[in-house]
Amino acid sequence: MAHDLLIKNGYIVIDSATEIAGGWIAVTDSRVSAYGTGGGEPEASRVVDAHGRLVTPGLVNTHHHIYQNLTRSYAPAVNGSLFNWLTTLYPIWAAIDEEASYLSTAIGLIELAMGGCTTTMDHMYVHPRPHLIDAQVQAGREIGLRFMPTRGSMTRSVEDGGLPPAEVVQDPETILIDSERLIRAYHDATPGAMTRIALAPCSPFSVTEDLMKATAELAETHDVRLHSHLAEDEDEDTFCAEVYGCRPVEYLERVGWASPRTWVAHFIFPNDDEQQRLADAGVGVAHCPSSNMLIGGGTAAVQHLRSIGMNVGIGTDGSASTDHASMWMEARNALLLGRYRGGPAAMAARDALDIATRGGAECLGWADEIGHLRRGACADLVVWDTHPVALAGALSDPVEAWLRCGPSRAFHTVVNGDFIVENREPTTSALDDLLRRHRAKAAEIQPR
Ligand SMILES: [Zn+2]
Repeated sequence: MAHDLLIKNGYIVIDSATEIAGGWIAVTDSRVSAYGTGGGEPEASRVVDAHGRLVTPGLVNTHHHIYQNLTRSYAPAVNGSLFNWLTTLYPIWAAIDEEASYLSTAIGLIELAMGGCTTTMDHMYVHPRPHLIDAQVQAGREIGLRFMPTRGSMTRSVEDGGLPPAEVVQDPETILIDSERLIRAYHDATPGAMTRIALAPCSPFSVTEDLMKATAELAETHDVRLHSHLAEDEDEDTFCAEVYGCRPVEYLERVGWASPRTWVAHFIFPNDDEQQRLADAGVGVAHCPSSNMLIGGGTAAVQHLRSIGMNVGIGTDGSASTDHASMWMEARNALLLGRYRGGPAAMAARDALDIATRGGAECLGWADEIGHLRRGACADLVVWDTHPVALAGALSDPVEAWLRCGPSRAFHTVVNGDFIVENREPTTSALDDLLRRHRAKAAEIQPR
């Protein structure tokens, strides 16, 4: 049988148990169809020589707010606390429309592909106008990443003691109707799906208790995932105690979210008992190392959480809190932060790769098909590019060298068998036009 694509002569990581030096991997009908050691390569319509390159499963991004790339490194906000940063940016984000959502998503997905990401979620939680997620789905289909937009929401504006202005929040009924509409329109539960929808109130404290409960019920009805921020800031403990009379994790349990359907971003400040309870409940965690370090408020106990049975993935977090969106950089920062926290034996490059691939796929409820390259997996993979100068002398371990040396980026990013990045460059012919329109839109919404 002739395959559609053959990548040969690479150091191929199939999953955490199997690595093949000088190996090959074949793709047929958008799936991994075979792999093996050098010498017995089958025929294929297209052959790529990956000599001297690492080949891994595509990285899976478990937390992002792509729209924020319209306000990257926005000078008036860069030195504020999380709350200052939000209150400076919310009024600007109130200008987001369908065009802004489409352009930021298209550019954001291209950027992710260049950093070796093949599947991403997105958490769009400001809704000053309708149909922003419809515009994201359109951009996702055009760019070709595997995409899980989440229907974010906020109901609590400054008028109800929240942070955002009234223009970006909505009433619970509008949110639920639109959530159901998006699931019906775009959620594809079939194997090999390119688009899935999840539901994602911004944080348990930015929406009403009834909406948290109703969102969990809606997710159950339609069998979709649930996502939110949790325990990102110590102030949440105080707020939660005052408003709900309990701690954030207890509140998550009270509203019916402590289930394997849920993954939460950050999870920095739970106590030991709370960590264990959510691990036992099957809740996953999106660890966002660059965001944690830039915000400077703490970071998740990643290796401990994994040791007690939690699924941990990596997230870039928003383009205005992390400002870049390279999953390679996030995997490297997860490695550095893990060792900084726990010492030199605390984490290895293979742990970071496992978190960025399998761990992420588990968080998104997609581990059967993505996050590995076993036979039958979706053909989502990356042939990595690290300059030979940066790799000079790195002879003994290509996986450690991948994160310790660098910077690295994608030489080829393949999603569903298609090249999204080829020879280091995005394949879309629309790139120049998208960049021009993105610049104009960013200039339009940023106050001068
Ligand atoms: Zn976030």
